Amino acid sequence: MSLSLYLDRRKWYRHIDETEQHYPGFVPVIKGNGYGFGNEYLAEVALEKKKKVIAVGTVDEARQLGKIGTFSEVIVLTPVMTELTRADLVSGRTYTVGSREQLRFLVKSFDRLLAEQGSVWSEMDVTFRLNILLKCESTMKRYGFSLQDAERIPDWIDGVQTDRVHVEVAGMSIHFPKERMTAAAREKQIGDWVRVMDRIDPSRRKMYLSHLTPAQYQAVVDRWPTIDFSIRLGTDLWLADKSFVETKSTVLDVKPIRRGERFGYKQLRSPRTGHLVYVAGGTANGVGLEAPACARGVKDWAKLTAFWLLGLVNRHLSPFSYRGKRLWFAEPPHMQTSVLLVPSGAPLPRPGEELPVQLRMTTAVFDRQVIVEDEVLELTERNPIPSQHEEKGNAVEAIP
Ligand SMILES: *Cc1c(COP(=O)(O)O)cnc(C)c1O
Repeated sequence: MSLSLYLDRRKWYRHIDETEQHYPGFVPVIKGNGYGFGNEYLAEVALEKKKKVIAVGTVDEARQLGKIGTFSEVIVLTPVMTELTRADLVSGRTYTVGSREQLRFLVKSFDRLLAEQGSVWSEMDVTFRLNILLKCESTMKRYGFSLQDAERIPDWIDGVQTDRVHVEVAGMSIHFPKERMTAAAREKQIGDWVRVMDRIDPSRRKMYLSHLTPAQYQAVVDRWPTIDFSIRLGTDLWLADKSFVETKSTVLDVKPIRRGERFGYKQLRSPRTGHLVYVAGGTANGVGLEAPACARGVKDWAKLTAFWLLGLVNRHLSPFSYRGKRLWFAEPPHMQTSVLLVPSGAPLPRPGEELPVQLRMTTAVFDRQVIVEDEVLELTERNPIPSQHEEKGNAVEAIP
């Protein structure tokens, strides 16, 4: 039984190589569910592609992936506000800090660890070097020092450093929204922070960016030639072109059901005569979990309302489809299996067949990954996974 991710690795690798040309020295972002591929797998790919620096979401991910390879640097993107452990007394890690509280917490936490007897660092009687990136506030309004804060950062660092912990500012970091921000506005914010960097510490010339097109990125690099820019890439790197991946679920069982007959976890009555189709993939795989959608305009609004209304009568469109038509859930999915209701008269899949399934790659967890060859690629290209409202798809295409 499997929810399977089919990956055309040759084409995917080619895209990763092209990305290196567009964004030389980019930093791969490896976090969460590993964009559907798994963090360990992405870390191995990053190593294979000779990446020395990676960015992870959390300190827990840094601990896990630090073991995998010999990355020279692992950047932790999310600020740390929970106590660190002795396992974190390692070099080669850089923490993102976007407020005075975060700075203080991080230094204090390390200082406490170092004060404990028996740590290697205290035995060697050397100062622990804590590498940080100063996170700059952007229009994202997500973590980051404001421009007003900027002047006081050196004092704050001086104030919090201890004999045991030396704070090393490795550079700056700025995260832009994906939508509704012009290239000029992005450049202006970069420029503001470049000026701050010049004032507070002219020797620091490193700045990490995100969410810029190759042309925008090139323009930034050309405009500030003395700054050492790198871009962080997650979605655009691993999932830019979804024709690389195909997601499928195996049919495990098919059982006839009469109208009004009870079935399943919830012992619901079947609204129609037909078949229950049991397929691989449930909530544990991210099936039936959708991020809240953002309605923009009447069409989105109408679509979301229609789904909401159908939900009121226990009709939930599933992400599984057969012969080009979306199938309906018979009951809400649970753990590793989903149950679909195929009314009599509609094409009925057989056990062992694979059904295409539309999943949001940032919530999906697959049972297995299959590397496909060129012949299968042709098929892949005809079925790209749409990027928006992935799980909802198009109700019009569903079996009535
Ligand atoms: C997740 C993340 C990225 C990558 O984001 P994508 O939208 O997946 O490309 C870049 N920068 C920061 C700070 C992040 O947290």
